[in-house]
Amino acid sequence: MSWFRKEKQKLRATDRRDLPTDVFEKCPRCGEILYRARLEQNLFVCPTCAHHQRIGAVGYVQLLADEGSFEERDGELRSSDPLGFVDLKAYTSRLEAAQRSTGHGDAVITGDATLDGVPVALAVMDFDFIGGSMGSVVGEKVARSGRRALAEHKPLIVVSSSGGARMMEGILSLMQMAKTSVVLARMHDAGIPYISVLSDPTTGGVTASYGMLGDVNVAEPGALIGFAGARVIEQTIKQELPEGFQRAEFLLEHGMVDMVVDRREMKATISRLLRHMLKLPDPSIGPLESPPARRPGPRSRRGRGGRGDAARARRNDRSAKERPSD
Ligand SMILES: [Zn+2]
Repeated sequence: MSWFRKEKQKLRATDRRDLPTDVFEKCPRCGEILYRARLEQNLFVCPTCAHHQRIGAVGYVQLLADEGSFEERDGELRSSDPLGFVDLKAYTSRLEAAQRSTGHGDAVITGDATLDGVPVALAVMDFDFIGGSMGSVVGEKVARSGRRALAEHKPLIVVSSSGGARMMEGILSLMQMAKTSVVLARMHDAGIPYISVLSDPTTGGVTASYGMLGDVNVAEPGALIGFAGARVIEQTIKQELPEGFQRAEFLLEHGMVDMVVDRREMKATISRLLRHMLKLPDPSIGPLESPPARRPGPRSRRGRGGRGDAARARRNDRSAKERPSD
């Protein structure tokens, strides 16, 4: 019979509406269709569920640096493929492809900027560049940023986003952990602030070095932060991991990060932290009121106050001023 031979047609979803991606975007968490321009205005945080989309290195530079203040440094550094590494592709061609697609020399952009008027050294990693992996160039650029911060006595801010050490550079990648950590230790000794911002995802060797070494470690909501992957840990310890494991909120609860900060509050929060650490006035708090003129106390009115009383009064006055306002 002829209908047996009839060719079966695959089901086709004919009514599927293809949304133009440059106008609308679907939130990967809540499924809400979002107007892209509005999403961009909202710093790529979903207005419905507050899901933080990745914004890339340039996005973070724009987010943190005052407009027009960012000056890139060491942008010319390139990896030399020291091992002549080839897997499915030669490392050199991977590098070239990443450089072409991202427009950056390697997986971190470094430079100088001001943040709310405070001069800072800024390093921002780019996950789109070979998974934000840390090779010799990333380590060198982060270390140089730290050295510049040391030399110029200004804070360092690193925004991390990384899959870990870059395997194509083998041991040389792992050595970057020590190199960057040494510079950060020197900064610590010199009392220069370092703020580490952990964005989604920050894993492996970056978490195990400069990612977690901040004077303050700030994470973005929902960011995946860890050393080894969850599956590897589960297989090793033969136990099921708790829900939310390796997410920013879980880490905050367990004391691994200091703050989880919404991206829309990130710049203001870092500005406040820097001003606190550098003992600069905070413009958002406004000028301090001058203390009211002291009236002579009952003792001095009675004419019993000698030099000792005056000195004590000055001391009391000073300690009252030094006491943090609450
Ligand atoms: Zn959403």
